[in-house]
Amino acid sequence: MLGARIVFLNLGMGLLLALALPVLFGRDRADTLFERLLRRTYLLLVVYALLRPLLAGTLAGWFSSSGMPRSGLWLWMLAFNLLLNLWLLFLLLGGVAQQLMGELRHERNHDPLTLLLNRRAFFQIAHQRLQHGTAAHWALLACDVDHFKQVNDTWGHAVGDNVLRQVGALLQEMTRPDDLVARFGGEEFVVLLRCDDLPTATRIAERIRSGLSQMRCSPAKHTLTASFGVTLVAGAEDLESALERADQAVYRAKHEGRNRVVASPSPGAAGNICPTPSTAAVAQPDDAARKATR
Ligand code: GH3
Ligand code: MG
Ligand code: MG
Repeated sequence: MLGARIVFLNLGMGLLLALALPVLFGRDRADTLFERLLRRTYLLLVVYALLRPLLAGTLAGWFSSSGMPRSGLWLWMLAFNLLLNLWLLFLLLGGVAQQLMGELRHERNHDPLTLLLNRRAFFQIAHQRLQHGTAAHWALLACDVDHFKQVNDTWGHAVGDNVLRQVGALLQEMTRPDDLVARFGGEEFVVLLRCDDLPTATRIAERIRSGLSQMRCSPAKHTLTASFGVTLVAGAEDLESALERADQAVYRAKHEGRNRVVASPSPGAAGNICPTPSTAAVAQPDDAARKATR
């Protein structure tokens, strides 16, 4: 009688646990050591639950109610089962904590609307890149959607939000995966590009400007333009002053009629005339006027 109970209980538990195996193993590859440990421990737990009645059954005397509870081996089997469950619990709690921390980190670093980096994370990652990537040259590209207020006023805020998502997606699509694309707020975006010279950065900005002007925004399929400012981040220069220059270039692009790229040479560099038709070299505008547009 006791033997039958052991068999049914353990086989039942093993089969119940086995139901979750396809979910656990069917998903993507286990990438981290943590995930591999979790999968293996769970598999061990299932196998052990299925094998336990076999182990017990093969050992004489275990199925008699008098012999089994006093058997040292049976107690070891129970202790092992307990430890295995505790280890699994520890791994599950660790997994939940790890996932929560990942989600919190993602939330802290990303703009919820476009899922691009936010300003804070952009500065943090960009500073690291500028400090460690000594051999690389960097360009900053600032972009402000033209007359975006009209989009909201004409089609409503929800369509405006959708347009911002589309602009963000286009910026990511038209830059390289290791370029940093961020939404700085409202309809303003900034990209940090690995790029050797201002004409190249300007060409990239021009390509994005052109792509944006060809984009059809859903649901109304209306068109959209944006103004761009481009500058190189000079060797030892801090990011903030380069960004200031890119902002001034955007201001100049707005002032000159919007839907264009304006390149601003970094201090000390020779004046840079940019090659594309919708692109103009920038003079430094007066700061108060610049702030009035931002
Ligand atoms: P300009 O060409 O001079 O840049 O004009 P603009 O209309 O794009 O600029 P303005 O600064 O006058 O208006 C920006 C608008 O962007 C106003 C604001 O309501 C809207 N906006 C800012 N953040 C969001 C957002 O998250 N979603 C939506 N739908 N609109 C936003
Ligand atoms: Mg705007
Ligand atoms: Mg703006």
